[in-house]
Amino acid sequence: FSSATTIRATLFPGDGIGPEIAESVKQVFREADVPIEWEEHYVGDQIDPRTQSFLTWESLESVRRNGVGLKGPMATPIGKGHRSLNLTLRKELNLYANVRPCYSLPGYKTRYDDVNLITIRENTEGEYSGLEHQVVRGVVESLKIITRQASLRVAEYAFHYAKTHGRERVSAIHKANIMQKTDGLFLKCCREVAEKYPEIKYEEVVIDNCCMMLVKNPALFDVLVMPNLYGDIISDLCAGLIGGLGLTPSCNIGEGGIALAEAVHGSAPDIAGKNLANPTALLLSSVTMLRHLELHDKATRIQDAILNTIAEGKYRTADLGGSSSTSDFTRAICDHL
Ligand code: NAD
Repeated sequence: FSSATTIRATLFPGDGIGPEIAESVKQVFREADVPIEWEEHYVGDQIDPRTQSFLTWESLESVRRNGVGLKGPMATPIGKGHRSLNLTLRKELNLYANVRPCYSLPGYKTRYDDVNLITIRENTEGEYSGLEHQVVRGVVESLKIITRQASLRVAEYAFHYAKTHGRERVSAIHKANIMQKTDGLFLKCCREVAEKYPEIKYEEVVIDNCCMMLVKNPALFDVLVMPNLYGDIISDLCAGLIGGLGLTPSCNIGEGGIALAEAVHGSAPDIAGKNLANPTALLLSSVTMLRHLELHDKATRIQDAILNTIAEGKYRTADLGGSSSTSDFTRAICDHL
């Protein structure tokens, strides 16, 4: 490819197993001739006063400038006086929706064969607003913030996603029977948006019932949209339906069309540096990034190579019951391209 057709994207290899699995992505992209030039940024070892976190201002600017990026896991540094890395990214880049596709991998047997759903999580408020304080000794309070603006924004994203991806149904997940004001407002916003999309079926499911339905028959769901905390929990539950955190990709959508794809697992310090990590989640996240860039041919080719490698069963990492190293598994994917 000439430099004229090269797209610049930000890469945060991250901590722990991050650099190992980021290397897999770089290797697969090279092999598939993906016209991406990475701008790599590591998490700093000092607090950047401009971001009040270990993330540098330059790294955030890089994502803003490129509009697209891929993020490995980041370990949360312990101590006071700085903001959580993931929260900094979400707030600074206004990453308001976290989208997690979750589908059964052909050839990798779990209890379910027919999972094919998308969870869309509101990413900026709810219980994760970071507003906690002590009222008096022995009594603490955490504020759950739900705004009309953020709820409409994520609902709009969910319906637009459903429409543009050939999905038929959006389920809003809530507990409005108890949290009438907060979840009630969230539902009200979802209903307003649903009216603009008469071709998409809309339903509301109480979170506890949703959990039961998901483990009984995940095929009951299509696109699920929900406030922050429920989304955090339900999306991990869905990852468990198809084989675990090593497999599930995600993409964060921000204001102005920013897309920051990321694996949902953490830095896995227990296996870091040992060439044991499963790079599938980060690789499939990179596929969602390519789809966002409308590089569909490359995305499909890489996705097929990953799925075929897993289905073949000859090379699998330990979390999938195999004994392959990260690099052997990556090599096998490249051979399948
Ligand atoms: P974790 O996801 O790192 O690990 C949980 C278990 O899953 C471990 O046994 C690990 O070995 C395994 N695992 C995770 N990813 C794997 C992969 N790709 N291949 C094979 N096995 C894998 O969760 P944790 O131990 O609770 O967290 C470790 C650190 O990661 C913490 O500092 C936490 O704050 C951070 N974290 C970051 C993110 C993020 O950046 N989005 C998400 C979760 C946790």
